Amino acid sequence: MNQSGWKPAAPVQGPGDTGTITGNRALMLEEPLIFELDGADTTGVDLAPAPKVASRLGGLERSEAIGLPGLSEPETVRHYTRLSRQNYGIDLGLFPLGSCTMKHNPRLNEKMARLPGFADIHPLQPRETVAGALELINQLAFWLIDLTGMHGVAMSPKAGAHGELCGLLCIRAALEARGDAREVVLVPESAHGTNPATAAFCGYRVENIPATSAGRVDLEALKARLGPDVAAVMITNPNTCGLFEPEMKAISDAVHAAGGFVYCDGANFNAIVGKVRPGDLGVDAMHINLHKTFSTPHGGGGPGSGPVVLSEALSPFAPLPYTAKTADGVVHLVEEEQAEAFSQEHFGGAMQSFGRMTAFHGQMGMFTRALTYILSHGADGLKQVAEDAVLNANYVLRSLEDVLDAPFAHSGPCMHEALFSDKGFADGFSTLDLAKALIDEGFHPMTMYFPLVVHGAMLVEPTETESKAALDQFIAALRHVAERARAGDEALKSAPIYAPRRRLDETLAARKPVVAFRTPAPDANKVSGLNEAGGQ
Ligand SMILES: *Cc1c(COP(=O)(O)O)cnc(C)c1O
Repeated sequence: MNQSGWKPAAPVQGPGDTGTITGNRALMLEEPLIFELDGADTTGVDLAPAPKVASRLGGLERSEAIGLPGLSEPETVRHYTRLSRQNYGIDLGLFPLGSCTMKHNPRLNEKMARLPGFADIHPLQPRETVAGALELINQLAFWLIDLTGMHGVAMSPKAGAHGELCGLLCIRAALEARGDAREVVLVPESAHGTNPATAAFCGYRVENIPATSAGRVDLEALKARLGPDVAAVMITNPNTCGLFEPEMKAISDAVHAAGGFVYCDGANFNAIVGKVRPGDLGVDAMHINLHKTFSTPHGGGGPGSGPVVLSEALSPFAPLPYTAKTADGVVHLVEEEQAEAFSQEHFGGAMQSFGRMTAFHGQMGMFTRALTYILSHGADGLKQVAEDAVLNANYVLRSLEDVLDAPFAHSGPCMHEALFSDKGFADGFSTLDLAKALIDEGFHPMTMYFPLVVHGAMLVEPTETESKAALDQFIAALRHVAERARAGDEALKSAPIYAPRRRLDETLAARKPVVAFRTPAPDANKVSGLNEAGGQ
């Protein structure tokens, strides 16, 4: 480390821990922000002094130093390597975040995505030079249509929530085309939070439909609310309680009879791929998170991709470019130039596409990874993906239901994720305490306090790519911290003890995020003991 930037650390103390002068904890190295490492007065490279030329900036020159850190190459490499070791990722260990489907991303996907014909192309290249990439999009669309039993797919949306927006815009375009202005979108309590947000963003009034005690949509309450003002119902299936909605067909029939459309949040398609075709359940629009069901890294690791499959009724309204199946069963990729002719020939009228969602075709890298995943599994392999995902989640559920309250376990097996509540914890102990203790055990915590229908919810999605040995270790860790929470072990409230940072004020961080580094005021320097060259 650059000597001028070093300062003694405040000792970090855990049980039997006297702290270290460096702040390093064995091979886990403490690391300040890059701006705190060194001042801007040193530089990693030797540059000749700038020639004296007359400024042509008309007085707009920067008047003070830009404040970039001046580190050498080894210092820079170490900085980022140290930071990367404080990160937790799916390549490091089991990542039980419910609703996120953090599964292993096969390296084969990466190899394919890096092929120059897919990786090194530009969206403005002439069509003739990207025939292979267009064919790949088309093939992926074919698989998505086939696996969902739908009619068309808008490939361009760039994430699940973006796909929801696309689906609702299709629904609105279809309603407007028949001169039917409807104002309400119904969203069951068990839906994902993005659903009501999307509906509100589209200008719809959102109304809740309650859940039954079994964690499913209350069909009778839904039927009672349907009417000529309801544009659509948005249903997450499997829902955010990790449960399949068995009355989906009856729900769709009732919504259609009332003149509305059925939007299905398909982010959890992982649990039913190859087993159930949403098209057979009467779904009109559904986004698929390629970055969940079909691997492809997400979160910090890569962009999302949220193609939206559409029913026959909604396909004509899809944003360009879209893909649609014709009567001969062939899937066509339709771009702006062909859209009018395609509509006339296959949709029996003028083009009705609502416009565009993105400038170009969507996330090419994610398309390549998803198609690789699909082709390397095949139809039978994808079926097994769903089976193994469900098996793993049920293994977690049944292994822990004696120490963690599982509110819906009485209503049968779960799908791809197991839901627990904080019932049974000692007074004053929360889901947060348990989650923080799980960090000390070496796991990223599960999804917490979601879904809202369960108190102190913990949603665990192990995914199909975890072995029994990995699950057993995770179950042992969760069992241990759950027992501590039940017994009221006070030490749990100080967790995490072994992490690079202890418990943070997450509410403050969310409410008042500080996203830019500011040079501390001079007296702040004194207080924190930084020497003159440091702390910048
Ligand atoms: C992840 C998820 C979404 C949102 O998808 P993004 O790609 O994060 O926008 C929506 N619904 C459910 C059920 C999800 O799990």
